[in-house]
Amino acid sequence: MADASDQSKPITVMGAGLSGLAAATLLARAGKEVHVHDIRADSGARFDGDFQALENWSMDDDFFDQLESWGFDSTSFKSTAFSVVDLIHPDDEISQAKTDGVAYRIVERGTSDHTIDQAFKRMAIEAGATLHYKSRIDEQEADIVACGPKDTSAIALGEIFHTSYPNHIAFQLNDKLAPGAYSYLIVIDGIGLICTCLWRKQKKSERFLNETIACYQRLYPDMDINPIKRVGGKGDFTLNGHYTAPATGQHFVGESGGLQDFMWGFGMRMAVWSGVLAAQEMLGGPSYEKEVRRHLLPYVRTSVANRWLMNRVGDRMFKRMCKAWMRDQSKSGDGLRWIGRLFRPSMFKRLVFAVASPFMLKRMEGPTRPLRLPFRKAKSRDAWEQSADALEVKARWELARRGGGQVSFTSTPEGEAQEISAISS
Ligand SMILES: Cc1cc2nc3c(=O)[nH]c(=O)nc-3n(C[C@H](O)[C@H](O)[C@H](O)COP(=O)(O)OP(=O)(O)OC[C@H]3O[C@@H](n4cnc5c(N)ncnc54)[C@H](O)[C@@H]3O)c2cc1C
Repeated sequence: MADASDQSKPITVMGAGLSGLAAATLLARAGKEVHVHDIRADSGARFDGDFQALENWSMDDDFFDQLESWGFDSTSFKSTAFSVVDLIHPDDEISQAKTDGVAYRIVERGTSDHTIDQAFKRMAIEAGATLHYKSRIDEQEADIVACGPKDTSAIALGEIFHTSYPNHIAFQLNDKLAPGAYSYLIVIDGIGLICTCLWRKQKKSERFLNETIACYQRLYPDMDINPIKRVGGKGDFTLNGHYTAPATGQHFVGESGGLQDFMWGFGMRMAVWSGVLAAQEMLGGPSYEKEVRRHLLPYVRTSVANRWLMNRVGDRMFKRMCKAWMRDQSKSGDGLRWIGRLFRPSMFKRLVFAVASPFMLKRMEGPTRPLRLPFRKAKSRDAWEQSADALEVKARWELARRGGGQVSFTSTPEGEAQEISAISS
């Protein structure tokens, strides 16, 4: 680890994901010698072609304007903006949330040139940072710890497919198909993704994906699906006691710092932002710890409160949420107002956070004294047999898999899906 008082020493970043590369770019641009180590073979390898959404409702500033203001080129990766999103209620009613501006931007994660990961990698290299892939270092050696999730609080499983269906986004609240969370459909330029998120730990977890795909096929009968691969990953939800470790001065950024949305897992914006804040402190700017507490922590705490509320609800409450969202849209003319309010800090959410967080979060060992959201247990209603349609989806995928379709997660003997651990050699 570099001595913070020694301005000439090289800076070591552990993790070449969005948060680590954002920090590395700004530090290298300022003339620092920066080394970024990642255990995987490339940036974005963790995600392998997954579509992810940059939501644009939780803050007043547009994220792309923020990126430009920090000096990142928001045109250096492919993004597709949507102003209309299908909202699928638990009883399959479909409403449309609409806005005049941008509701979502979809980006691709992975190792292809047009992904956001590769764009951040290019910016870091152009700035002069040295990237070391397949390189394992001790956490103690890092000035910035940016290695994403450690443990599992939730998982997401998806199928990527070829389709001739037009560009489209749908977001579904359905506690059977996505226990405690949501599922979604994204189609961009002939490639589709149907993904379900499990905020309760499940046996035979791929049945949730099969059933979700069968549901979308029923709701969008004109959509053809030719599976390419299955992707998935874990989310780790922690609330840190410190963002800069008091003993070592190391900055914990992105998901390593618990800077993540506990409710629905929108973590990319906080990852980049926290990388920027860490670099700014190392370049003589304001304290990282203070800036995280000022700009990001209120959102993280709100999301903890939202997660606690979500853990209490089932489909009946999801239906009421969908109706409230649509009623608000009819009244205000903007489909983002209701959802924006849900994500923003408020007195009520602060109160819920204060009351609920001691019951929800468990203290862990570590330099940042994190409190962790454990992966919740399944409920009795999560035990069900797959429908005939879901079994057909499964059979179609198995055929594609035999033809070379890759999977980026493994299954335990109990059939519980887990993210493939990082490749170390
Ligand atoms: C399936 C899935 C879907 C998601 N969808 C969305 C979405 O739609 N919108 C959104 O905003 N967010 C989404 N997220 C969350 C988002 O991906 C993360 O919050 C974000 O990538 C965190 O950035 P990061 O820099 O902290 O970590 P990452 O981008 O994951 O980067 C961490 C890097 O560290 C490396 N690494 C790991 N361990 C070590 C080690 N020991 N040493 C060195 N390097 C290491 C990894 O290989 C990786 O390259 C999703 C997450 C998953 C899993």
